[in-house]
Amino acid sequence: MDYMYSGLILVVDLESGETEEVDLEEEFIRENLGGAAANLALYEEYKDRDPMILGSGFFTGTLISGSALGIATAKSPVTGKVAHSPLAWFFGPELKLSGYDFVVICGKSEKPVYLWLHDEMADIKEAGELWGKDTWETTDFLRNELGDDRVQVLTIGKAGENQVKNAQLINNYWGSGDKFGFGAIFGKKNVKALALRGMGELELDDPEAFLEKDMELLGKVKESVSGKKVEWLAEKAGISLEGLDPFIHRNTACFNCPLPCRPYVKYNEVSTVMSSTRVAEPGVLVSDLYGMAAFNKKLDMEVSLRAIEKCCRVGIDQVVAGSLIKNTELDDVLREIDSMVPGESDTSDIKPWDKDFDYGAFGSFCPPLTDDWKEKVAISYILGICPILLSAVPELSKEVLVEMINVTTGWDTTVENLDSVVSKLIG
Ligand code: SF4
Repeated sequence: MDYMYSGLILVVDLESGETEEVDLEEEFIRENLGGAAANLALYEEYKDRDPMILGSGFFTGTLISGSALGIATAKSPVTGKVAHSPLAWFFGPELKLSGYDFVVICGKSEKPVYLWLHDEMADIKEAGELWGKDTWETTDFLRNELGDDRVQVLTIGKAGENQVKNAQLINNYWGSGDKFGFGAIFGKKNVKALALRGMGELELDDPEAFLEKDMELLGKVKESVSGKKVEWLAEKAGISLEGLDPFIHRNTACFNCPLPCRPYVKYNEVSTVMSSTRVAEPGVLVSDLYGMAAFNKKLDMEVSLRAIEKCCRVGIDQVVAGSLIKNTELDDVLREIDSMVPGESDTSDIKPWDKDFDYGAFGSFCPPLTDDWKEKVAISYILGICPILLSAVPELSKEVLVEMINVTTGWDTTVENLDSVVSKLIG
């Protein structure tokens, strides 16, 4: 594949400890475009080897707004079906630029390991001393060990190690779009973490035309999202943010996104302090509004936010933990979350999303913001553009996205072709 991808699929065999590089063929991308559709095709190909697929979308890591998405695909311990979890923040771009567009993780390692992908090199490394550490400690350890603070880490906490059904993959320190218990799959495979660093570059068929069209598009995108932040998203999702404002330090956004819907909140120091202080861990990133709401139904806001930090550290789904919680005092709440980690709590009836809506194989990372939610999310998971942004910006239409595919590749693909890839994903 000459354009838009680095050109390699990495197949990791945890049984033998070997890795194999497979060329990413243009025909495969023409058929599947990328992201969740390509993941699904790879899942089918390696089905007999209990795979988890991590993949990047067609536009992931480019200048197109919101191109932050990577996607994990596997058989979910929560639903028992194949599902797709979006991994935002900087995971997708870092994966693609590490030299590997897709990673197929097969089998199970005998001992705890972590995977280190960088500059078209893939190492399987021992992780014995990492096993038992929480996700924050793991991220710090790996960045220190690998000598780069910009290493992106996908990891599990004790919930994943113990294969708790609703264990979540944690994206550096924060909760991810994994609503399907993929953290338990890492645990089952004895994989503590995946560390990524990418210095790669992407080739385009017509970079000048792409830049011109993208600049034009960016102007429209900025107009559409002007003033939209977490308040907009919460209102659309029907979630109250009452009591959150005093804790908000800043509104943050994922890679190349003009809609900063993820507030970073402080509770260990005054939220308005902007400069670095001696407080090493001043707060947490609110990345799952449904999770925050699940806690905030029973707890005051500060306890809810501290409970979110605890969920991130042990790597458990925030909606599930928030639904199970019975105590209200902080110390009791934190102890109660710890008690969920060995997997003794019965979560069989609890959905990891807090709405009566059929999220199917996609999960609740993107609330139902538009009537054509399923199609929008499918396009987003295939092309690697965040579904929240795609829902907020009508100008990011199928026609425009297909035009951009053609400008970047020199193809003459059509909206009908995109539709047929989408229908492979949603049936
Ligand atoms: S809309 Fe929000 S979740 Fe999506 S890429 Fe932007 S900041 Fe990230």
